[in-house]
Amino acid sequence: MIDETTTSAPAGSPAGGPSDAAEHLDVVVVGAGLSGIGAAARLRAAFPGRRIAVLEARDVSGGTWDLFRYPGVRSDSDMATLGYPFRPWVDERSIAPGGAILQYVRDTAAETGVDQLVRYRHRVVAADWSSDDDRWTLRVETGASETGANAPDASATGTPGASTPEASTPEACTPGAGAPGAATSGTVTLTASFLFLASGYYRYDQGHRPELPGEDAYEGLFVHPQHWPEGLDTAGRDVVVVGSGATAMTLVPALAAGGARVTMLQRSPTWVAALPSRDRRLLPRARRIGLRASARVSRWRGIAGGLVTYQFSRRAPERTKRLLRARVAARLPEGFDVDRHFTPRYDPWDERLCVVPDGDLFRALRDGTARVVTDTIDGFTARGVRTSSGEELPADVVVTATGLTLQLFGGVRMTVDGRVVDPAEHVAYKGAMLDGVPNMAFAIGYTNASWTLKIDLVVRFVARVLSTMEARGQTRVVPAAPTRPGRLGALSPLIDLRSGYVARGLHLMPKQGARAPWRLHQDYLRDLVLFRLGRVRGDGLTYGSARASSSPTTATRPKDRP
Ligand SMILES: Cc1cc2nc3c(=O)[nH]c(=O)nc-3n(C[C@H](O)[C@H](O)[C@H](O)COP(=O)(O)OP(=O)(O)OC[C@H]3O[C@@H](n4cnc5c(N)ncnc54)[C@H](O)[C@@H]3O)c2cc1C
Repeated sequence: MIDETTTSAPAGSPAGGPSDAAEHLDVVVVGAGLSGIGAAARLRAAFPGRRIAVLEARDVSGGTWDLFRYPGVRSDSDMATLGYPFRPWVDERSIAPGGAILQYVRDTAAETGVDQLVRYRHRVVAADWSSDDDRWTLRVETGASETGANAPDASATGTPGASTPEASTPEACTPGAGAPGAATSGTVTLTASFLFLASGYYRYDQGHRPELPGEDAYEGLFVHPQHWPEGLDTAGRDVVVVGSGATAMTLVPALAAGGARVTMLQRSPTWVAALPSRDRRLLPRARRIGLRASARVSRWRGIAGGLVTYQFSRRAPERTKRLLRARVAARLPEGFDVDRHFTPRYDPWDERLCVVPDGDLFRALRDGTARVVTDTIDGFTARGVRTSSGEELPADVVVTATGLTLQLFGGVRMTVDGRVVDPAEHVAYKGAMLDGVPNMAFAIGYTNASWTLKIDLVVRFVARVLSTMEARGQTRVVPAAPTRPGRLGALSPLIDLRSGYVARGLHLMPKQGARAPWRLHQDYLRDLVLFRLGRVRGDGLTYGSARASSSPTTATRPKDRP
């Protein structure tokens, strides 16, 4: 699958096609967030001779963990499973601040040499596949700077005991275009044999911000958590946080701890569970078995715990509801209206369960530094929000924690042999590729467990596929959905959460079938078998070679087959 030619102008390529000088890469990873850095580290270690580049639209790495800077920003799943298996998270903080996660991602990039592969300010806007020569032609906008860097968490610098994935040879890799800001403004064309889209799942430039009734009357400050103003001081001020998702649950105790008087205004409640923020067994156990082994135990405990609680809650929703409600009630003062504020009508995991580390939200509610109001917005006054039941909530600042705007594949416009790919018209293969779209995989993680658990399985599967192609001198792999009626089963959206951002983006989303490999399991153990042991030949994947088949391909043995 390694293609040593450097230029070609595929028939059916976009207007004019790539110039003769277009640089060719074996694998292009789009996005230098948690997924893209992990994917590039794995692929570089597995194929040290291949030309791999990570194209990143922004001028910094870290994705989500750099973009979000609101007070208290943190993980809401345990870091033992959100961290990379090849570079375990060895910090006691299992619910970690955003800055620590950002530092971990960047340390991983530096340690694995992936930072040398990243080309910043490279936004992929179009990807056109040509079956004449089995290549993607990428149109990339360069140079437009987006947001700056978040402050990484100094206390998290270096995660001791962590190590790189399998050894790699830096000199064999494509040198990165280097440091942030290296690109000059313009458009470049690149070609690639394989595309790995690690571009997240939401728009960076714009969070979801519905118009609120009568908002023009308000004279205070509106803030969206996705664009938190640097240096905003809320101490001693009245803040109304509109929303009931993970962001609101994070912001409310953080703002209260910073001296604000906070009201969380939610239309309807969310299921919430308090979890310990620290993994207190990690270090004592490390003294007996070593830090890496101890981190591995934590990871498996996290995986098993997550699976058991998820399965239990889906099979016994009524018992789960009673349990969750009782636990919340136990943390709140007597007389608190738990039913109104913390007992949703939907079943746990119909929407993502919100985690409250060490019960910090409940502490703020107990202390009286925060309160929760479950009501709808009727309108605004100059100084605050008026609810439908007539209450006026004073607000110097209104935080619209109203969610994300779903965007798939980083907004990249894809064509296959001149035909536009509308993801919503395709069925996803193992939740990682699209039927009929060759040489492309994407990173969309679990919604009921840590994102990285899924992404790492996908990347290792991609490495197996690439090795298979290489061994057989083939240049193309395409998922082919069964055409016989009934073989796919009933189609449904790829992600079956009812959360707002998913519901709003349903029309954009690929479909899934009813059975493997066309079904997305939200189940790490099943996926472990499917991705690591499942066949890479047959089972829905078809392989082939370029129609023109004249491009010389040079097969080199991969250093290590993951
Ligand atoms: C506040 C917040 C907290 C979260 N907490 C958790 C958690 O605790 N556990 C969990 O499992 N999940 C969590 N998630 C989900 C989270 O987004 C993922 O866990 C993970 O960080 C996603 O990483 P990613 O690299 O796939 O995407 P992102 O972090 O979104 O990174 C994508 C990167 O791709 C770049 N990019 C996008 N389009 C293009 C393009 N066209 N060309 C070039 N570059 C492009 C972006 O600039 C960005 O750098 C959280 C999400 C948010 C918003």
